[in-house]
Amino acid sequence: MAVAIANRSAALFHLKRYNESLIDIDLSLSKGYPQHLLFKLYERKGDCLKILASSCKVSFREDMGRHIRAVRDIMPGEIVLIEKPFASVLVPQQYWMRCNVCLKPTVNSLPCPNCVNVIFCSEECCKESQKSFHRFECKILGYFKLLELDRFALLVLRTILTLPANTVMNYTKSKMSSRYSKSKKIILNDKNQYSWDDYNTICDLVTNEDKKTAKELFSKSIKSFMLLKLLEQTDYFNDIPVEDLPAVKIQATTQMLNHLLSFPCNAHEIFEIRLDPSSVAASVSSEVGAGIYSTLSLFNHSCDPLVTRVFYGDVCVVRAMGLIKKDAEVTDNYGAVFQMSQLDLRQVQLSQYCFKCTCDACKYDWPLY
Ligand SMILES: [Zn+2]
Ligand SMILES: [Zn+2]
Ligand SMILES: [Zn+2]
Repeated sequence: MAVAIANRSAALFHLKRYNESLIDIDLSLSKGYPQHLLFKLYERKGDCLKILASSCKVSFREDMGRHIRAVRDIMPGEIVLIEKPFASVLVPQQYWMRCNVCLKPTVNSLPCPNCVNVIFCSEECCKESQKSFHRFECKILGYFKLLELDRFALLVLRTILTLPANTVMNYTKSKMSSRYSKSKKIILNDKNQYSWDDYNTICDLVTNEDKKTAKELFSKSIKSFMLLKLLEQTDYFNDIPVEDLPAVKIQATTQMLNHLLSFPCNAHEIFEIRLDPSSVAASVSSEVGAGIYSTLSLFNHSCDPLVTRVFYGDVCVVRAMGLIKKDAEVTDNYGAVFQMSQLDLRQVQLSQYCFKCTCDACKYDWPLY
């Protein structure tokens, strides 16, 4: 049995069904595959993992900007990316139904020990929140509604609160950095990788500042100042020496303004699909929150996308919807697919992202489905 399953894993490997091959390899190992042949299975497992780990790469072209490209054929249903957000927030109507840290639904929730604004799914998430952003946010969350600050403002604040204040001065948007890949126009970490938890990648997301009106820029500047005033109500700046405070506050406000400009074009809505058991077509998407994902933000839009997103709490899983050929650009959808929405409506929906879509569905005005 173990040998038969191992042989099937070899056949699946040659058919490029790497996920299924991996499952069979593990099954064969658990069924007692002969010891003296084990090296073959481990070698195949290593090959599968290597191939799966590198289905895509970040590319750059003057006319397309940064984008994601397939480095091999990607099979329908295959996972292209699993990414945790740098920061995420719930929409207010979900505050009493989901954990404020992982965004998963909970029925046996735990309250915050110090405020009545949030709940957590477990001791672990509660402790995590007290160690990180909620330690500061706890005192000021109530003001967000009063000041009519939206979810992007809270997401910006939470992004800053995940960093210790004494490191705020280390971040600048300098393209002169030695870690900046000029050919791909991306920032790499110490291991030469583009990483989801590297704050520099969040700072480097496109802001479209030059396409904003003076009124918009003024309004965002006021918002960043309001966020600074809220931060001052917390202990966030407590460890900063008094002589450094003005410079650190200016830097924090500058970064918050940068994020207030970039997040509306780069943050992703986190949603869940409410499945209608009688008809898949009647199932609806329900908004859970918003998150900022550095790699996910590099996927360009198409009205006829090649991948789809599913969220588990705030973890995003991106899967191929059909066969994606090697070298093809891997496109996502920013909320307007050609099957459901007409060309002119799609262009209006996409206007917040400051680009005009030129995908084939737009070029040839494909009919609705
Ligand atoms: Zn949780
Ligand atoms: Zn609290
Ligand atoms: Zn389009």
